[in-house]
Amino acid sequence: MRPEILTPLFASARQLPGVGPKLIKMIARLIGLPETADHEARVVDLVWHLPASLIDRSLRPKIVDAPDGQIVTLEVTVGQHRPPPPRNRRVPYKVDCTDETGTLTLVFFNAHKDYLTRQLPEGETRFVSGKVDWFNNAPQIVHPDHLLSADEFDAMPPIEPVYPLTAGLSPKTLVKAIRAAVALVPELAEWQEPNWLIKQKWVGFTEALNAVHTPASEDDLNPLAPARARLAYDELLANQLALALVRRQMKRATGRTLAGTGAIWPTIVNALPFSLTTSQNTAIAEILDDMASGDRMLRLLQGDVGSGKTVVALAALISAVESGTQGAFMVPTEILARQHLKTLTQMCDQAGITVAILTGREKGKPREEILNALSTGEIDILVGTHAIFQAGVEFKDLGLAIIDEQHRFGVHQRLAIQAKAAGRADVLVMTATPIPRTLALTHYGDMEVSRLIGKPAGRQPVDTRVLPGEKLSEILRALPRAFAAGARVYWVCPLVEENHDLPWAAAEERHQALEKLFPGKTGIVHGRMKGVEKDAVMAAFQAGEISILIATTVIEVGVDVPEATIMVVENAERFGLSQLHQLRGRVGRGTGKSSCLLVYSSPLSENAKARLKIMRETDDGFIIAEEDLRLRGSGELLGTRQSGLPEFHLADLSVHGELLAAARDDAALILLQEPNLDGKRGDSLRTLLYLFERDEAIRLLSAG
Ligand code: ADP
Ligand code: MG
Repeated sequence: MRPEILTPLFASARQLPGVGPKLIKMIARLIGLPETADHEARVVDLVWHLPASLIDRSLRPKIVDAPDGQIVTLEVTVGQHRPPPPRNRRVPYKVDCTDETGTLTLVFFNAHKDYLTRQLPEGETRFVSGKVDWFNNAPQIVHPDHLLSADEFDAMPPIEPVYPLTAGLSPKTLVKAIRAAVALVPELAEWQEPNWLIKQKWVGFTEALNAVHTPASEDDLNPLAPARARLAYDELLANQLALALVRRQMKRATGRTLAGTGAIWPTIVNALPFSLTTSQNTAIAEILDDMASGDRMLRLLQGDVGSGKTVVALAALISAVESGTQGAFMVPTEILARQHLKTLTQMCDQAGITVAILTGREKGKPREEILNALSTGEIDILVGTHAIFQAGVEFKDLGLAIIDEQHRFGVHQRLAIQAKAAGRADVLVMTATPIPRTLALTHYGDMEVSRLIGKPAGRQPVDTRVLPGEKLSEILRALPRAFAAGARVYWVCPLVEENHDLPWAAAEERHQALEKLFPGKTGIVHGRMKGVEKDAVMAAFQAGEISILIATTVIEVGVDVPEATIMVVENAERFGLSQLHQLRGRVGRGTGKSSCLLVYSSPLSENAKARLKIMRETDDGFIIAEEDLRLRGSGELLGTRQSGLPEFHLADLSVHGELLAAARDDAALILLQEPNLDGKRGDSLRTLLYLFERDEAIRLLSAG
């Protein structure tokens, strides 16, 4: 159970001043809470929302000296109100204010008279703060940020934090809510080692939190500034401690010996239309060794898009089956599950292996039959989505669980899989997103790693071009010729439907437009469609009945259509590099020459330019992943989230790499000293885990 002291932080943010039903939704959007989340934005979510810049209001000149274009705070006497003539909304409401040096005009458009008369009573002293504009030799402030009485002014910090915003949310409201949220953070017993704090010159947690929300200078915004670094370290320590606990738990459960017999695999491998690469053979050998040993396998198979992971997975599954157990193959999307079912069935057919599928779509009787066959052991290999985790899904004897495209799953699911296997199944995680070393540590710190290097021979490099949106018409003009030559095209848009807050291409609108140009040749898939509908469209594309598949990133992972040779990505600047790399990996799979057109909307930021340039320059997923991490500013939110990198609120792996390494060592040491977190630091470290929502790891502790 979460310690009571943290309860206020995990309550809904609705209790904060000014946060009503409308605002809570905006806050959810601001912090990137998925629409499907089972809770509203909470107090703690705002606590983790750090300022991105600041406004310095300490400049306090007299009116005549107020510099044009700068933010100032002026002490003035309120003078005459000059409301606009009735029914003329275009003329602003003006209020003249004075000090001994001159007159300043406050200007309000669409003003509420009552409000202004209350805020600015004639003859009173007020502190006004905002940007001064000199207009016809007279200073004015349009929509001052603050109109304060002397008391209120005393309470106003001269330096104001500026938070990242989302459309519709006003900075003032947000600041107020965040201030209230931070005030709810209790004093917590220190979980860090005292000497380490002294060495780093770090203050306590609560003090550090207050400090990051009240920056005094630009330096304080640096992620390496002491208060920010301390909080980043807290988060990293929670992450590493949780992973260390998972690893220990997984290793503690004695594995089993799945030695294989070699009775089935040769039949399958000999029937493949290709021979395995050296790299595939090495990975298979590592995996089979691991399975054959008495220890439990916890292995990550990293291999770039198209490097041929599926057949490696199959080798492991077959070895589990040869050993008299079952295998599970879990993938993140329905489309992928169907595709894998098809590939695996083809490969396994002549060997008499039974492969079945279980996703959210199998319902009623068919589902019953599958569950039944699974529990009797009739099914050898079960492919599916996370529906595999649901209650009631019982294997006769699960020997190996494979999780494909793991970046979509969390530690949580890994533990769930493990529970299915009564804590004994070997686990192989596969990822096509090459992961930088630091990320591998934060996400897979608990695993051994195998790598597929390079790609099977005969692959053509993909010709990658970066083009401005204005060139779209040229692309469209070139398409008929490509179609005549049998080409199939993926066309990816960042949004499903038009959103007035975001000026990006939407799949539905693009689909309509392309269907007009190429009637009967287009189809669309996106995440909001029903599974059956998606399958039908994918099948039509695979079969060549349609030539353009308009899609959102649902096609990102794994989809295999060798005839597709053109990939168009609109608003490419909006995607993470690893994600673009994944998308590009959808083409260049067959013998045809392939191209990838990355279309951006101008103007392109320097950062975005650099990112797209990398896509043109290299096809090496590892380089791309490292660069993505290096260049991914905190502002490139969409890229981060959609590329599925692990979520940190306070730590930024592109700058906190060294802290991460320290946290990893620290976590190992802690578990040596206090294996069950029951020593001196135990309680406070448990609080730390709860604070950063590593609750699953705590369950491992109480389970002992
Ligand atoms: P990924 O690693 O992206 O999952 P896949 O396993 O889907 O890659 O393999 C991509 C394609 O390469 C498939 O069509 C597969 O049949 C083919 N392939 C896999 N291994 C080899 C190989 N050794 N030689 C030639 N083609 C291969
Ligand atoms: Mg794959």
